[in-house]
Amino acid sequence: MTIQSFHPPKRTLMGPGPSDVYPRITEALSRPTIGHLDPEFVRMMDEVKELLQYAFRTSNALTLPISAPGSAGMEACFVNLVEPGDKVIVCTNGVFGGRMKENVERAGGEPVIVQGEWGRAVDVAEVEKTLQAHPDSKILAFVHAETSTGARSDAEALCRLAREHNCLTIVDAVTSLGGSELEVDGWGIDAIYSGTQKCLSCVPGISPVSFSEKAVEKISSRKHKVQSWFLDMNLIMGYWGKGTKRAYHHTAPVNAMYAFHEALVILQEEGIENAWARHKLHHNALAKGLEAMGLELVVPEGERLSQLNAVKIPDGVDDAQVRSELLSKYNLEIGAGLGNLAGKVWRIGLMGCSANQTNVLSCLGALQAVLGSDKNGAVAALEFYHSQG
Ligand SMILES: *Cc1c(COP(=O)(O)O)cnc(C)c1O
Repeated sequence: MTIQSFHPPKRTLMGPGPSDVYPRITEALSRPTIGHLDPEFVRMMDEVKELLQYAFRTSNALTLPISAPGSAGMEACFVNLVEPGDKVIVCTNGVFGGRMKENVERAGGEPVIVQGEWGRAVDVAEVEKTLQAHPDSKILAFVHAETSTGARSDAEALCRLAREHNCLTIVDAVTSLGGSELEVDGWGIDAIYSGTQKCLSCVPGISPVSFSEKAVEKISSRKHKVQSWFLDMNLIMGYWGKGTKRAYHHTAPVNAMYAFHEALVILQEEGIENAWARHKLHHNALAKGLEAMGLELVVPEGERLSQLNAVKIPDGVDDAQVRSELLSKYNLEIGAGLGNLAGKVWRIGLMGCSANQTNVLSCLGALQAVLGSDKNGAVAALEFYHSQG
């Protein structure tokens, strides 16, 4: 027997990522591969950087895609900015904050944890107290959009506090970029990383990052070499840097970069504010539908992400059974709970092009069918859409 070509099933992706990919993006992936130092590829990469500055709302010169998934963007920020002995305040209110702590330790830093409640935004007052108690801190790190719980933290207020206490900021925007208001320059974020497969609806595997001038100063004046060769920004700058003569560092994932370029072009065409508003609209409709079905969201209103909705699993309902029926009968993927919330919640994603009316209605309809409920969430959501004109 010979193994045949792989043809994946056609799913609707409404989990924590990857999200549905725009057909224009899969088409871009199939374009001819050229050399990564080909002048045409270099020209396209300059456009990617410009488009990324638009998406991040920044004029940071060091804004570029790392050739690896979001976790590598996270690692890039920590290994470049944290020097051995540096005290780093890390806010943990979910799984990804926990990973930041790991990163600080592995880079030789000393993490100071602000432990928050899962399902709530980072507590700004607690962070202020911690900054006051540790005046020798160098960095404040937090997750803007905590995908494990669906909570959105006040990045603007946290960055202001960090500045007042002479700390740089590292912000995880893997799930927020393209889905929630995010202002790198306006809020004074020093280092930020994101992903392609969440609200940008691109294929996974690339992590855009951006560093402020203050962050670049810290990186270029380090006393210790960055422990990671691959992620050392001092070396990567020579590969992606605008105007610099490109030198071989690694082979960029050429076709994946075409896809990412297309994703950013789509974002620019829609307009980033319109993309934020679209996520919000469909989140509101989904929330109305879930409420009509008697289902509850974990995060209180005002701290909710549009793009990730953690829903409490009702008593007596079999978590895995529901998700597996949604997948097998309706080709619909929703996410399981993660960490402390495993088995307690479902995570319904409305990310990128997955945030649309058809998905909201079919998700509510499929949930109703699988739960055997007589409460019609889809009708409630439709009424909400109509009320919005
Ligand atoms: C998905 C995610 C990551 C990790 O991204 P990968 O591409 O899976 O490596 C990091 N932080 C947050 C908040 C995420 O949602």
